[in-house]
Amino acid sequence: MYKSKIIFLIYALIGIFALAGCSAEKESNGKLKIVATTTMLYDLGLNIGGNHVEVKALMSPGIDPHLFKASAGDVNLMQEADIVIYNGLHLEGKMADVFEALSKGGHSVICIEDGIDSSKLLTSEDEGSVYDPHIWFDVDLWKDAAKHVAGELSKIDEKNAGDYEKNLESYLKKLDALDAYIKERTSEIGEEQRVLVTAHDAFRYFARAYGYEVKGLQGISTEAEAGTADVKSLADFIYERKIKAVFVESSVPAKTIEALKAAVDSRGFVTEIGGELYSDSLGDEKSGTETYILTFRANIDTIVNALK
Ligand SMILES: [Zn+2]
Repeated sequence: MYKSKIIFLIYALIGIFALAGCSAEKESNGKLKIVATTTMLYDLGLNIGGNHVEVKALMSPGIDPHLFKASAGDVNLMQEADIVIYNGLHLEGKMADVFEALSKGGHSVICIEDGIDSSKLLTSEDEGSVYDPHIWFDVDLWKDAAKHVAGELSKIDEKNAGDYEKNLESYLKKLDALDAYIKERTSEIGEEQRVLVTAHDAFRYFARAYGYEVKGLQGISTEAEAGTADVKSLADFIYERKIKAVFVESSVPAKTIEALKAAVDSRGFVTEIGGELYSDSLGDEKSGTETYILTFRANIDTIVNALK
């Protein structure tokens, strides 16, 4: 009787250890679990983390980060992750308290804002001198973001630092090739035609880097709606400058740009809808634009083909 109790106890203990070992294995998979807020950061995390990470994006393609609210499930996902990557600069405007709680709780977070020298940032005077969060459409700034992610990952996971450095080096080369492609395509259009009219002000870094003028119907956040006065003055501008095309954005409803086109047309000059640009989200696999590089190439092709 006594002996069988001991044997039972031993089996029970083995069972518990086996279970514990099994679940730990299943949970970590040996890989760091990363949750990135936007699709751009999801892609960056994958490129730098490589085989050592498993990345999930909180937002799907086409989701507007300015308006995105984290659900209880999203918050859980972030709490269970080893690392959370977010843009900052108030891009994820409705999630500030979530990030604060995560970092207060000692959670590993990588905030891209911390990796970019503030002297390189643009501000919006109209919106109370707040920083413009759309840094990803200047490849140079995105290289800084990549370096920051590699540096932070190496601190968190020191034993794989060499691999993160290697991944970074190879990704920076691809980004240099992308930068060259954007400049080469831009040179196909005359300087006076390099004007980008879009639904919201997501392309000011792009404009500064590649020599375009930009006009967004809404400001740097999509939270405030464009008024009729904004539509009227922008329509006047397009009419006077005879701008061939305006662009809709994949993460913003098309109706404001359609209203703008109608206002220009009524002045007796036809401006075309030049196509859909990816602004605050990458494309999806179906569109073949599921990476940052493919998305940016698609954007520059759309812009140049419509304006030249
Ligand atoms: Zn935006």
